[in-house]
Amino acid sequence: MADDCLFCRIVAGEIPSDRLHDDDLVIAIRDIAPRAPTHILLMPRRHIASAAELTDADAPMLGRLFAVAADLARQAGIADSGYRLVSNVGRWGGQTVDHLHVHLMGGRAFEWPPG
Ligand code: 5GP
Ligand code: ZN
Repeated sequence: MADDCLFCRIVAGEIPSDRLHDDDLVIAIRDIAPRAPTHILLMPRRHIASAAELTDADAPMLGRLFAVAADLARQAGIADSGYRLVSNVGRWGGQTVDHLHVHLMGGRAFEWPPG
């Protein structure tokens, strides 16, 4: 755990969150400032700064994370209409929290490419 990391503190339960999924590898929480009717964040329990830091050894965690995202999308009723999975990396990528997370967003249509 990185002591100064907001999402490590959420994983540890030190900061409350609306938790939708929790297992040995990943957790999923509702985004505190939703930008779509469904806006969920999926993240590894382990501190990884961003997608730029991933290695082959993270394959099981990533497989779990995307499988959980698909399940949550079905549960939220957005699987048929479609949704977006996105992970921002670095300053120009729009990353504001340096603990890897994937946004699951749906319930409305999105532009491509994003602004
Ligand atoms: P990023 O900008 O790094 O791609 O995404 C960070 C996301 O975390 C943002 O959508 C922001 O609303 C969300 N966020 C920031 N602080 C908190 C918090 O304390 N709790 C929750 N649930 N989400 C947060
Ligand atoms: Zn962290």
